[in-house]
Amino acid sequence: MSEQTRSETAEQTSEKLVELAKRRGYFFQSSGAYGGVGGFYSFGPQGAALKGNVEDAWRDRFAVQEGNMEIDAPTIMPEPVFEASGHLDGFDDMLVECPDCGESHRADHVVEDNTDYEDAESLPIPEVEEVIAEHELVCPSCGAGLAGQAVEAFNLMFETNIGPGDSDPGYLRPETAQGIFVEFPRLKEYARNQLPFGVTQIGRAYRNEISPRRSIIRTREFTQAELEYFVDPEEDEPDLESVEDVEVTLYPASEQNSEDGGELEITIGEAVDEGIIANEWVAYYLGVAKPWYGAVGVDMDRFRFRQHLSGERAHYAADCWDAESEIDGNWIELAGFAYRSDYDLSKHDEYSDDRFTIFKQYDEPKTVERATVDPDMSYLGPEFGGAAGDVVDELETLAERDRSAFEGDVVEIELEDESETHEIPVEKTGFSVDEETIAGEHIVPHVVEPSFGVDRLVYTVLHHAYREDEVDGEERTYLELEPEVAPTFVGVFPLQNDDDLEAVADDIVDDLRDAGLSVTYDDSGNIGRRYRRQDEVGTPFCVTVDYETIENEETTVTVRERDTTDQKRLPVEDLAETLAAIREGNLEFEDL
Ligand code: ATP
Repeated sequence: MSEQTRSETAEQTSEKLVELAKRRGYFFQSSGAYGGVGGFYSFGPQGAALKGNVEDAWRDRFAVQEGNMEIDAPTIMPEPVFEASGHLDGFDDMLVECPDCGESHRADHVVEDNTDYEDAESLPIPEVEEVIAEHELVCPSCGAGLAGQAVEAFNLMFETNIGPGDSDPGYLRPETAQGIFVEFPRLKEYARNQLPFGVTQIGRAYRNEISPRRSIIRTREFTQAELEYFVDPEEDEPDLESVEDVEVTLYPASEQNSEDGGELEITIGEAVDEGIIANEWVAYYLGVAKPWYGAVGVDMDRFRFRQHLSGERAHYAADCWDAESEIDGNWIELAGFAYRSDYDLSKHDEYSDDRFTIFKQYDEPKTVERATVDPDMSYLGPEFGGAAGDVVDELETLAERDRSAFEGDVVEIELEDESETHEIPVEKTGFSVDEETIAGEHIVPHVVEPSFGVDRLVYTVLHHAYREDEVDGEERTYLELEPEVAPTFVGVFPLQNDDDLEAVADDIVDDLRDAGLSVTYDDSGNIGRRYRRQDEVGTPFCVTVDYETIENEETTVTVRERDTTDQKRLPVEDLAETLAAIREGNLEFEDL
């Protein structure tokens, strides 16, 4: 299929999917009764169940199986948190407003969508303005020229007031991660002050996106599933052996920068050996994530890991890769995997009164030299008055940092907010270097962060599962969802409105629910219509109770599989056990 045709077909799939999602209760724009509001979506009964199953699968893999702790922190946090994290100053997107229709757009998206630039987000604002003028780019909504319009940095955080009045500003968290970092001083106690340990959180995040688009792919309120794994960079190593044979499609920065560059099919082990994935922790989580994405239903032929280009990567991040899925011929970011060094904890350590460090005990106590001061206050007091305390602090810091400053007759210091240099006789500082035996040191742990978006994953799972075929001469639409995440696992139907059939069907529903399966009961319309309804929402199996069920000595029912539409007669007695085994992946329908 040509790229063009493929993309057209995909485009139609997206349109059909969004229509199906609304009609059948997957997702729809919220507050429709009041005209709807951009960037906010509600998940209907099917969507909420699918999303819940995806979250459970994530929890099982990234919290339970990895032995990590899960927390649930508030979504509103006070301003100092975001001062420390850098979000207040730097969590901006580039905004350009149309001079004609007044619509706001992301300037970097306007550039990327209409020029060869692939990473306009990393360009400085004046350069983006130049590119817009040079290429005579126009407003995507009305076509008016955007040349000469100012591009502005727009902070994406939603602001609110905590309590009455406006003296205590708060923000809706733009990522779940800060809830984990801020609680580190307490969380490290739960981990018995031992590295490495991991903390996960699944919850809502809020970003006042300039132009939310493509239904639940870019919204203003969405769900993230994040893991912060805290390590000692000198001691801890990931269990790379367990993932070294995982085959992945990688799109490294070097290939993106090269004109004829492309994706590489490679194992995690090879990618580490060849230095393609620079950080072993990141490599480990890519190796864990790939099979997990496959298990929840992402089509592995439409999935890759793309390395951030140097301009995209935060200065403190050693290596960063995104998981991407192909939708409508475009790649969308599903998750980010970053090695963030000690950046986040150091910032909170600096800005807050708490300690964001771990005490690392040495195998053997060490003897070290320590430079200290014991200033003569009878000299500093009259000389510096109220600033004498600051002078002491400055001398202490200098002794720790640069003992050579005390080698001459005088030591020079500068006080904060003063440009003047003060000279203090070294004999008045009480400077000395002494030996000390220490048992360990306080270190700021490094962190590796796999950060998953749940909504984009739900969209991908539905898009990749969307199928159309023909059954008995009729067109059919079905969702080939993985049984593990399908909102409903089995539909139960009495063939006709008949008390005897309905009584058996009711019992079967109870049995299946007792076995932990999610079941829907449907007795309206002809049986073909009922099958189509379940196919369309992706229910893997349907059970029909017919006259054979109640007339024959051995009670059996028809079980129909969604994808093949194959039907088999199975004894009611074993039904719950058999279907539960299929759900667990321990049995195949075709082997029955
Ligand atoms: P983008 O570049 O697409 O705006 P991002 O790089 O800012 O995304 P991260 O901060 O890395 O995203 O967030 C982690 C994950 O959260 C993303 O991979 C994505 O799946 C999800 N996510 C981020 N922003 C949104 C949004 N506005 N709507 C839905 N999901 C989002």
